[in-house]
Amino acid sequence: MKDILKMTWKEIEALPKDKTLLFLTFAPVEEHSHHMPLGVDIFLGDTWRNKAIEMISKSNLDYQLLTMPPIPFAQGTVEGFPGNLHVSQKTVYRVACEILNKTASWGIKNTIIIASHGEPKHLIAIEEACDKINKKHGLCAISPMGAFFSYDELGIDLNFPVEMEEMLKKYPKDFHAGWIETSAMLDIDENLVKKDYSNLPDIKIEEKEMIFPKKVNKKIAGFGHLGYPRLANKKLGELINKNAAEYIYKVTLAFAVRQDFEKYQHHSLHKIPFLRTNFTRNVLRVFCIIICSIIVYIWIRYK
Ligand SMILES: [Zn+2]
Repeated sequence: MKDILKMTWKEIEALPKDKTLLFLTFAPVEEHSHHMPLGVDIFLGDTWRNKAIEMISKSNLDYQLLTMPPIPFAQGTVEGFPGNLHVSQKTVYRVACEILNKTASWGIKNTIIIASHGEPKHLIAIEEACDKINKKHGLCAISPMGAFFSYDELGIDLNFPVEMEEMLKKYPKDFHAGWIETSAMLDIDENLVKKDYSNLPDIKIEEKEMIFPKKVNKKIAGFGHLGYPRLANKKLGELINKNAAEYIYKVTLAFAVRQDFEKYQHHSLHKIPFLRTNFTRNVLRVFCIIICSIIVYIWIRYK
Protein backbone atom coordinates (compact mmCIF):
# COMPACT_ATOMS: atom_id res chain seq x y z
CA MET A 1 0.00 0.00 0.00
CA LYS A 2 1.35 3.41 -0.95
CA ASP A 3 0.15 6.80 0.17
CA ILE A 4 0.14 9.17 -2.82
CA LEU A 5 1.34 11.98 -0.51
CA LYS A 6 4.62 10.09 -0.28
CA MET A 7 5.00 9.54 -4.02
CA THR A 8 6.49 11.71 -6.77
CA TRP A 9 4.61 12.58 -9.94
CA LYS A 10 7.09 10.42 -11.89
CA GLU A 11 6.06 7.44 -9.77
CA ILE A 12 2.40 8.17 -10.48
CA GLU A 13 3.23 8.47 -14.17
CA ALA A 14 5.02 5.11 -14.15
CA LEU A 15 2.13 3.19 -12.53
CA PRO A 16 0.55 0.33 -14.48
CA LYS A 17 -2.70 2.32 -14.72
CA ASP A 18 -5.13 -0.52 -15.38
CA LYS A 19 -3.47 -2.54 -12.61
CA THR A 20 -3.79 0.17 -9.96
CA LEU A 21 -6.47 0.51 -7.29
CA LEU A 22 -6.80 3.98 -5.79
CA PHE A 23 -8.81 4.37 -2.57
CA LEU A 24 -10.32 7.61 -1.31
CA THR A 25 -12.30 8.12 1.92
CA PHE A 26 -14.98 10.81 1.58
CA ALA A 27 -16.65 11.40 4.95
CA PRO A 28 -17.39 14.28 7.32
CA VAL A 29 -15.94 15.91 10.37
CA GLU A 30 -19.14 15.60 12.39
CA GLU A 31 -20.46 15.34 15.94
CA HIS A 32 -20.84 11.85 17.38
CA SER A 33 -22.68 12.54 20.65
CA HIS A 34 -20.89 13.25 23.95
CA HIS A 35 -18.63 10.24 23.86
CA MET A 36 -16.88 10.17 20.48
CA PRO A 37 -14.75 12.58 18.44
CA LEU A 38 -15.65 14.45 15.27
CA GLY A 39 -13.56 12.19 13.04
CA VAL A 40 -15.46 8.92 13.59
CA ASP A 41 -16.67 8.51 9.98
CA ILE A 42 -13.16 9.17 8.64
CA PHE A 43 -11.56 6.75 11.14
CA LEU A 44 -14.10 4.10 10.11
CA GLY A 45 -13.61 4.66 6.35
CA ASP A 46 -9.80 4.55 6.60
CA THR A 47 -9.86 1.48 8.88
CA TRP A 48 -12.20 -0.47 6.56
CA ARG A 49 -10.06 0.58 3.59
CA ASN A 50 -6.81 -0.53 5.27
CA LYS A 51 -8.28 -3.89 6.27
CA ALA A 52 -9.64 -4.40 2.72
CA ILE A 53 -6.22 -3.50 1.27
CA GLU A 54 -4.63 -6.07 3.59
CA MET A 55 -7.01 -8.72 2.24
CA ILE A 56 -6.24 -7.74 -1.37
CA SER A 57 -2.49 -7.91 -0.65
CA LYS A 58 -2.93 -11.47 0.62
CA SER A 59 -4.96 -12.50 -2.45
CA ASN A 60 -3.27 -13.31 -5.73
CA LEU A 61 -4.54 -10.12 -7.36
CA ASP A 62 -1.52 -8.35 -8.82
CA TYR A 63 -2.46 -4.67 -8.37
CA GLN A 64 -0.72 -1.55 -7.07
CA LEU A 65 -2.65 -0.30 -4.04
CA LEU A 66 -2.76 3.46 -3.46
CA THR A 67 -4.43 5.65 -0.87
CA MET A 68 -5.39 9.32 -1.02
CA PRO A 69 -5.82 11.67 1.97
CA PRO A 70 -9.50 11.74 3.08
CA ILE A 71 -11.89 14.46 1.90
CA PRO A 72 -13.13 15.68 5.32
CA PHE A 73 -16.62 16.98 4.65
CA ALA A 74 -20.02 15.66 3.57
CA GLN A 75 -23.62 16.53 2.93
CA GLY A 76 -25.61 16.66 6.16
CA THR A 77 -28.53 18.47 7.76
CA VAL A 78 -27.93 18.09 11.49
CA GLU A 79 -27.78 21.47 13.21
CA GLY A 80 -26.73 22.87 16.57
CA PHE A 81 -23.40 21.08 17.05
CA PRO A 82 -20.15 23.06 16.90
CA GLY A 83 -17.52 21.14 14.99
CA ASN A 84 -19.79 19.85 12.21
CA LEU A 85 -18.36 20.31 8.74
CA HIS A 86 -21.34 19.80 6.48
CA VAL A 87 -21.68 21.21 2.97
CA SER A 88 -24.43 21.11 0.37
CA GLN A 89 -25.14 18.04 -1.74
CA LYS A 90 -24.13 20.04 -4.84
CA THR A 91 -20.70 20.80 -3.31
CA VAL A 92 -20.13 17.10 -2.61
CA TYR A 93 -21.11 16.30 -6.20
CA ARG A 94 -18.84 18.98 -7.67
CA VAL A 95 -15.82 18.05 -5.53
CA ALA A 96 -16.28 14.34 -6.31
CA CYS A 97 -16.59 15.11 -10.05
CA GLU A 98 -13.47 17.27 -10.09
CA ILE A 99 -11.35 14.80 -8.12
CA LEU A 100 -12.48 11.84 -10.22
CA ASN A 101 -11.88 13.86 -13.37
CA LYS A 102 -8.29 14.36 -12.24
CA THR A 103 -7.62 10.75 -11.21
CA ALA A 104 -9.10 9.62 -14.54
CA SER A 105 -6.82 12.08 -16.36
CA TRP A 106 -3.81 10.49 -14.59
CA GLY A 107 -4.94 7.31 -16.34
CA ILE A 108 -6.16 5.47 -13.20
CA LYS A 109 -8.78 2.89 -14.19
CA ASN A 110 -9.97 1.94 -10.69
CA THR A 111 -10.81 4.61 -8.13
CA ILE A 112 -12.80 3.30 -5.17
CA ILE A 113 -14.50 5.92 -3.00
CA ILE A 114 -15.21 4.89 0.59
CA ALA A 115 -18.06 7.23 1.55
CA SER A 116 -18.37 6.07 5.16
CA HIS A 117 -21.27 8.37 6.05
CA GLY A 118 -24.80 6.97 5.97
CA GLU A 119 -26.63 10.11 4.74
CA PRO A 120 -28.37 9.04 1.47
CA LYS A 121 -27.94 12.44 -0.26
CA HIS A 122 -24.17 12.35 0.38
CA LEU A 123 -23.89 8.83 -1.02
CA ILE A 124 -26.13 9.59 -4.01
CA ALA A 125 -24.14 12.73 -4.93
CA ILE A 126 -20.91 10.72 -5.07
CA GLU A 127 -22.61 7.96 -7.05
CA GLU A 128 -23.87 10.57 -9.53
CA ALA A 129 -20.30 11.89 -9.86
CA CYS A 130 -19.01 8.36 -10.55
CA ASP A 131 -21.73 7.86 -13.18
CA LYS A 132 -20.76 11.12 -14.88
CA ILE A 133 -17.02 10.35 -14.91
CA ASN A 134 -17.60 6.78 -16.06
CA LYS A 135 -19.65 8.10 -18.96
CA LYS A 136 -16.93 10.59 -19.88
CA HIS A 137 -13.77 8.49 -19.40
CA GLY A 138 -15.07 4.91 -19.54
CA LEU A 139 -15.62 2.83 -16.41
CA CYS A 140 -13.04 3.95 -13.83
CA ALA A 141 -14.79 4.81 -10.52
CA ILE A 142 -17.14 3.21 -8.03
CA SER A 143 -18.63 4.33 -4.71
CA PRO A 144 -19.99 1.15 -3.10
CA MET A 145 -21.03 2.36 0.38
CA GLY A 146 -24.56 3.43 -0.70
CA ALA A 147 -25.31 -0.19 -1.59
CA PHE A 148 -23.70 -1.27 1.69
CA PHE A 149 -25.91 1.03 3.79
CA SER A 150 -29.06 -0.04 1.87
CA TYR A 151 -28.16 -3.75 1.60
CA ASP A 152 -31.56 -4.87 2.87
CA GLU A 153 -33.60 -2.94 0.28
CA LEU A 154 -31.22 -4.07 -2.50
CA GLY A 155 -31.26 -7.70 -1.39
CA ILE A 156 -27.48 -7.80 -0.89
CA ASP A 157 -26.34 -10.41 1.62
CA LEU A 158 -23.63 -8.93 3.85
CA ASN A 159 -23.06 -12.25 5.64
CA PHE A 160 -23.35 -10.78 9.11
CA PRO A 161 -21.99 -12.92 11.91
CA VAL A 162 -24.68 -14.24 14.33
CA GLU A 163 -23.82 -11.70 17.08
CA MET A 164 -24.34 -8.79 14.68
CA GLU A 165 -27.49 -10.31 13.20
CA GLU A 166 -29.02 -10.65 16.69
CA MET A 167 -28.15 -7.08 17.64
CA LEU A 168 -29.54 -5.71 14.37
CA LYS A 169 -32.81 -7.56 15.01
CA LYS A 170 -33.10 -6.55 18.66
CA TYR A 171 -31.78 -2.99 18.36
CA PRO A 172 -32.41 -1.78 14.80
CA LYS A 173 -32.35 1.82 13.52
CA ASP A 174 -29.08 2.49 15.28
CA PHE A 175 -28.41 5.30 12.83
CA HIS A 176 -25.77 7.52 14.39
CA ALA A 177 -23.16 7.14 17.15
CA GLY A 178 -25.13 4.24 18.62
CA TRP A 179 -23.98 0.67 19.33
CA ILE A 180 -22.68 0.17 15.77
CA GLU A 181 -20.34 3.16 15.50
CA THR A 182 -19.36 3.13 19.20
CA SER A 183 -18.41 -0.57 19.01
CA ALA A 184 -16.44 0.02 15.80
CA MET A 185 -14.54 2.89 17.44
CA LEU A 186 -13.81 0.81 20.57
CA ASP A 187 -12.12 -1.66 18.26
CA ILE A 188 -10.18 1.04 16.38
CA ASP A 189 -8.98 2.95 19.44
CA GLU A 190 -10.79 2.71 22.75
CA ASN A 191 -8.95 5.78 24.03
CA LEU A 192 -11.02 7.82 21.58
CA VAL A 193 -14.29 6.75 23.28
CA LYS A 194 -15.23 8.41 26.59
CA LYS A 195 -15.69 5.78 29.30
CA ASP A 196 -19.18 6.91 30.38
CA TYR A 197 -20.84 6.05 27.06
CA SER A 198 -22.91 3.41 28.87
CA ASN A 199 -24.81 6.18 30.69
CA LEU A 200 -26.14 7.77 27.51
CA PRO A 201 -29.89 7.40 26.88
CA ASP A 202 -31.39 5.37 24.02
CA ILE A 203 -32.76 7.69 21.32
CA LYS A 204 -35.25 6.02 19.00
CA ILE A 205 -36.34 7.26 15.60
CA GLU A 206 -38.28 5.67 12.73
CA GLU A 207 -36.59 5.18 9.38
CA LYS A 208 -39.24 7.24 7.57
CA GLU A 209 -38.58 10.19 9.91
CA MET A 210 -34.92 10.27 8.83
CA ILE A 211 -35.71 12.12 5.59
CA PHE A 212 -37.19 15.07 7.53
CA PRO A 213 -34.29 17.21 8.90
CA LYS A 214 -36.56 18.98 11.42
CA LYS A 215 -37.65 15.70 13.03
CA VAL A 216 -34.05 14.42 13.14
CA ASN A 217 -32.81 17.67 14.70
CA LYS A 218 -35.53 17.51 17.36
CA LYS A 219 -34.65 13.93 18.36
CA ILE A 220 -30.89 14.37 18.28
CA ALA A 221 -30.80 17.75 20.10
CA GLY A 222 -28.53 18.06 23.13
CA PHE A 223 -26.88 14.68 22.63
CA GLY A 224 -25.96 13.95 19.01
CA HIS A 225 -26.74 10.26 18.67
CA LEU A 226 -29.63 8.19 17.33
CA GLY A 227 -29.63 4.66 18.68
CA TYR A 228 -28.14 2.77 21.62
CA PRO A 229 -24.53 3.69 22.46
CA ARG A 230 -24.75 1.98 25.90
CA LEU A 231 -24.85 -1.45 24.19
CA ALA A 232 -21.48 -1.07 22.45
CA ASN A 233 -18.55 -3.38 23.05
CA LYS A 234 -15.15 -3.99 21.51
CA LYS A 235 -15.85 -7.57 20.39
CA LEU A 236 -18.86 -6.39 18.37
CA GLY A 237 -16.69 -3.60 16.94
CA GLU A 238 -14.17 -6.11 15.69
CA LEU A 239 -16.94 -7.99 13.86
CA ILE A 240 -18.44 -4.78 12.43
CA ASN A 241 -15.09 -3.53 11.09
CA LYS A 242 -14.18 -6.92 9.64
CA ASN A 243 -17.59 -7.22 7.98
CA ALA A 244 -17.37 -3.77 6.33
CA ALA A 245 -13.79 -4.46 5.18
CA GLU A 246 -14.83 -7.81 3.67
CA TYR A 247 -17.58 -6.03 1.73
CA ILE A 248 -15.11 -3.44 0.36
CA TYR A 249 -12.67 -6.24 -0.50
CA LYS A 250 -15.38 -8.20 -2.35
CA VAL A 251 -16.63 -5.15 -4.30
CA THR A 252 -13.10 -4.03 -5.19
CA LEU A 253 -12.25 -7.45 -6.63
CA ALA A 254 -15.52 -7.52 -8.61
CA PHE A 255 -14.87 -3.99 -9.92
CA ALA A 256 -11.22 -4.68 -10.79
CA VAL A 257 -12.15 -7.64 -13.00
CA ARG A 258 -15.37 -5.94 -14.16
CA GLN A 259 -17.61 -8.78 -13.07
CA ASP A 260 -20.91 -8.53 -11.14
CA PHE A 261 -20.03 -5.15 -9.65
CA GLU A 262 -23.11 -3.28 -10.97
CA LYS A 263 -25.32 -4.04 -7.96
CA TYR A 264 -22.85 -2.18 -5.72
CA GLN A 265 -22.91 1.09 -7.70
CA HIS A 266 -26.02 2.74 -6.25
CA HIS A 267 -27.94 3.32 -3.03
CA SER A 268 -31.48 1.90 -3.08
CA LEU A 269 -32.79 5.50 -2.96
CA HIS A 270 -30.68 6.59 -5.95
CA LYS A 271 -33.74 6.26 -8.18
CA ILE A 272 -35.79 8.81 -6.19
CA PRO A 273 -35.64 12.08 -8.17
CA PHE A 274 -35.83 14.56 -5.27
CA LEU A 275 -32.79 13.01 -3.61
CA ARG A 276 -30.63 13.78 -6.67
CA THR A 277 -28.34 16.80 -6.94
CA ASN A 278 -29.92 17.95 -10.20
CA PHE A 279 -33.53 17.64 -9.00
CA THR A 280 -34.33 21.40 -9.00
CA ARG A 281 -32.63 21.91 -12.37
CA ASN A 282 -34.60 19.04 -13.91
CA VAL A 283 -37.89 20.33 -12.50
CA LEU A 284 -37.14 23.80 -13.95
CA ARG A 285 -36.23 22.22 -17.28
CA VAL A 286 -39.55 20.31 -17.46
CA PHE A 287 -41.40 23.45 -16.37
CA CYS A 288 -39.72 25.50 -19.16
CA ILE A 289 -40.53 22.83 -21.77
CA ILE A 290 -44.19 22.84 -20.72
CA ILE A 291 -44.44 26.66 -20.81
CA CYS A 292 -42.68 26.83 -24.20
CA SER A 293 -44.97 24.11 -25.60
CA ILE A 294 -48.05 26.05 -24.41
CA ILE A 295 -46.76 29.29 -26.01
CA VAL A 296 -46.01 27.53 -29.32
CA TYR A 297 -49.44 25.85 -29.25
CA ILE A 298 -51.24 29.15 -28.62
CA TRP A 299 -49.17 30.88 -31.31
CA ILE A 300 -49.94 28.18 -33.94
CA ARG A 301 -53.63 27.97 -32.97
CA TYR A 302 -54.40 31.68 -32.93
CA LYS A 303 -51.94 33.31 -35.37
ZN1 LIG B 1 -20.78 8.47 11.88
